[in-house]
Amino acid sequence: MGKNITVYDKKFTLYIPSRKIQKAISGIAKRINKDFAGKRPVFISVLNGSFRFTADLMSKINIECEVSFVKVASYSGTRSTGKINTVIGLNENLRGRSIIILEDIVDSGNTIQKVAAELKKHSPEQVKIATMFFKPHAYKKQILLDYVGMKVPNDFLVGYGLDYNGLGRNLSDIYILNL
Ligand code: 5GP
Ligand code: MG
Repeated sequence: MGKNITVYDKKFTLYIPSRKIQKAISGIAKRINKDFAGKRPVFISVLNGSFRFTADLMSKINIECEVSFVKVASYSGTRSTGKINTVIGLNENLRGRSIIILEDIVDSGNTIQKVAAELKKHSPEQVKIATMFFKPHAYKKQILLDYVGMKVPNDFLVGYGLDYNGLGRNLSDIYILNL
């Protein structure tokens, strides 16, 4: 019997316990420590959801590195009816640098594609992607995800940085929406 929680009107069941998340992060950290030794990478964490993944990953990174944060803000364009996503908060010189984007979860891939494209405009040496969670059945893009913590089904999750209407980011475990 899984542990159940209620967030607003919805019921969720414990799906991934904290220790499994931490174990997956250790695996990513081990690979990054090896792949980026001597390269002084810049981690670019995509807020809000990635704050826990970023903090836990950084506690396991033992090479020289920098950490910075961006946000993807969406607004309605004045000429088009569609939502336009814009990356805000980027103010370091990334020319020639090795960048590792940190995401909480990749779903359709829209967000990560936008962020990666935006960063590539800054002439970095390389742009890699690390995501804690990945929904392969929802993914619609071609861009390669270099470091994936865990694959998850195409269902709604909360916890470990992921929210439901602003709540649940503080939970250390991942919960899945009851269907
Ligand atoms: P994408 O642009 O890849 O479709 O979606 C990425 C963003 O959607 C994530 O950064 C996250 O904010 C949100 N998202 C995707 N799947 C989930 C989920 O299962 N739960 C929550 N809380 N947010 C999600
Ligand atoms: Mg995100």
